[in-house]
Amino acid sequence: MKRRKKVCPHCGRKLWLRDFYITKSGNPSSWCKDCERQNKRDWYDRTRRVPDGIRLNPSTGLLMQHEGLARRIYWSKQMLDDLRRLFPTTKNEDMVDILGVSERTLIRKARELGIYKDKEWQHNNTMRHVKMAQLTNRIYGIKTPFQKGVHYCPENEFQKGHQLSPEAKVKQAEALRKWNRLHPKAAQHRCKSLMKPVLCVDTGETYPSIAVAARSNRVKPPWLSTRIKQGKPIGGRTYQFINNHLTKTEQ
Ligand SMILES: [Zn+2]
Repeated sequence: MKRRKKVCPHCGRKLWLRDFYITKSGNPSSWCKDCERQNKRDWYDRTRRVPDGIRLNPSTGLLMQHEGLARRIYWSKQMLDDLRRLFPTTKNEDMVDILGVSERTLIRKARELGIYKDKEWQHNNTMRHVKMAQLTNRIYGIKTPFQKGVHYCPENEFQKGHQLSPEAKVKQAEALRKWNRLHPKAAQHRCKSLMKPVLCVDTGETYPSIAVAARSNRVKPPWLSTRIKQGKPIGGRTYQFINNHLTKTEQ
């Protein structure tokens, strides 16, 4: 039986053998006539020699700089200004739409000019994503892997009276310092959340933290905190913690 039809692997159509060019060996070519022609046309467009200079490319809408057979995108002053101004606080997908270049070209140009994303903007973005994930979990009732009262790995848990080795202490402090440097805004927020507001019973004054209260009375902060826990006066005055959390839940 003589073969009369063949599938073109490029376009996937099943065609008669007359729709395929015959090669030198007498066999039909792999691709069909349409695909072969389109491929030739594309190759010609890709490698066509264009006179040197900067001119508009109608297919991409960008100014192209031609030099011999080499070509590259010509970055106009407007584009560079946009890149410098918008890149640090804009998503790459949006930048691609604004400039009309590919994402790879955009990032390469930014690195060439030494432009990077704003650290704080990036951190805020990730925190927004985390919060959105938490919200959706709450809406759909998806339980997070961390639940109260469940012990996944009791042997590695923090135990009372456990002491870190000196090297581990140094390592931990270094890591915390590094994190603070990387995320200044988050570090500030963490400090605020760790602060305990204090009330002076004798004068009726309130302080945002133990350290501020201790400074105003010229005593050391750790002493003040232990005296508050004992319920004893220090420097002739008695202090109290203001438990914001409790008062909020009671209301
Ligand atoms: Zn084809």
